[in-house]
Amino acid sequence: MKYRLVSGLETHVELATATKIFCGCTTAFGGSPNTHCCPVCTGQPGALPVLNKKVVEYAIRAGLATHCTINTTTHLDRKNYCYPDLPKAYQISQFDKPLCEHGYVELESGKRIGITRIHIEEDAGKLVHESGFTYVDYNRGGVPLIEIVSEPDISSPEEAKEYVEKLQLIMRYIGVSDCKMQEGSMRCDVNISVMPEGATEFGTRTEIKNMNSISYIEKAMAYEYERQIEVIEGGGKIVQATLRYDEHTGETSVMRTKEDAQDYRYFPEPDILTVVIPESKVEEIKNSLPELPTDKLHRYIDELKINPATAKLLYKYKRVCDFAERAFALGAGVKNTVNLIVGTLYSKLETEEDKEKFVLPVSADEMAALVKLVDDGKINITLAQKTLSAMAEEGKPVSAYIKPEDIAGMDDGELESICRQAVEANAGAVADFKAGKEKAIFALYGFVKKATQGKADIKKADEIIKKLILG
Ligand code: ADP
Ligand code: MG
Ligand code: ZN
Repeated sequence: MKYRLVSGLETHVELATATKIFCGCTTAFGGSPNTHCCPVCTGQPGALPVLNKKVVEYAIRAGLATHCTINTTTHLDRKNYCYPDLPKAYQISQFDKPLCEHGYVELESGKRIGITRIHIEEDAGKLVHESGFTYVDYNRGGVPLIEIVSEPDISSPEEAKEYVEKLQLIMRYIGVSDCKMQEGSMRCDVNISVMPEGATEFGTRTEIKNMNSISYIEKAMAYEYERQIEVIEGGGKIVQATLRYDEHTGETSVMRTKEDAQDYRYFPEPDILTVVIPESKVEEIKNSLPELPTDKLHRYIDELKINPATAKLLYKYKRVCDFAERAFALGAGVKNTVNLIVGTLYSKLETEEDKEKFVLPVSADEMAALVKLVDDGKINITLAQKTLSAMAEEGKPVSAYIKPEDIAGMDDGELESICRQAVEANAGAVADFKAGKEKAIFALYGFVKKATQGKADIKKADEIIKKLILG
């Protein structure tokens, strides 16, 4: 029998606010254990939380960017559980009235993965297991999170990957999180079930907790899909359970089953007032959103006519796009700009993170100045690549490499005289060309390029040469 895979993801995203959700402590990653803490975020008795406005704003940004409706009257709830990473024995979260609901993320295929809800909550501390002891570091306690819950609309590991990547991209574009999975600022709980092709009811699901790598998510889903089918085909039943994924064996194992599932006894948080957000604030946030990744990708392909493969290499990195778009605005041609970025600048930015940060000592102005020289046929692309490479390494302007007199000197008279020399020096190639071998003309281009150190406009040279040969 064939089985369909059904999956919904719960994604935790750490918000990039400077301070924690209910106190003024820093959210900076790392730091010596228990140095980014105070009585509020370590849950001391009597300490009172004060909701960070920025957290609400960032969560609304995330909601609007994923097409959610915003609940402008909302509140927080206590989720009770007892574990050493949470000294006050409850997490402040949202239960029945999440800040954002009913959105979606669109995949390249046009398929929409529904977003059930996005709510705000606080992160817990971190347990560190070392040489037989367990330590607890509360630096992360109270760091603001949004939890993005998807509908069970994901049907394959590939779709899960694309969904997570899209979410990552959206959150980075709108500036609410860096979404670094390896640092834990984005992590996913992956819910999976299978159902026979044609069935109308979902199967029982399992949930793999706390995945912090996209490739592990894909592998774990593929493994769990096969495992569930095997159980069902063997006459067994899937037991609803929380699983952990072992990245070394590539297998899942049970952490807890439904029998010992927790009852969190949610109730409204009494220390924080109902949150009322003016409609005008939502409107203001909506207006401040940048162009979103999918819209940008489509605009690059459809309007700017960038080829899809190149457009995909660009749109993933917001800073690169900002740089390219500034150069366009300064009059640089799209084609030469993007080719120089992807061909030359990317070779200086090896990792994803390098491209993400995009720190190179080349300004958009200088980039535009260089590209315009290529656009106008004053220099060829090879010289432009060499120049840009040097600019990116040395931080000097175009004028340090290409002097105005170099380009200005190449007037029509001079180019014609060089073309004449090319014709004289390549009698064989000229004869071949006249005999119909079109490619023979490349030998003459080569001569002109060499004689002008790449500064000749080859299109112009081509015209002159043909006139000289064919009369
Ligand atoms: P909780 O984990 O808090 O009990 P929910 O019932 O809200 O939560 O579901 C959590 C996630 O599980 C959601 O992303 C949802 O899409 C997904 N999900 C629900 N039912 C199934 C199912 N049968 N198969 C796969 N995923 C499911
Ligand atoms: Mg869950
Ligand atoms: Zn604190």
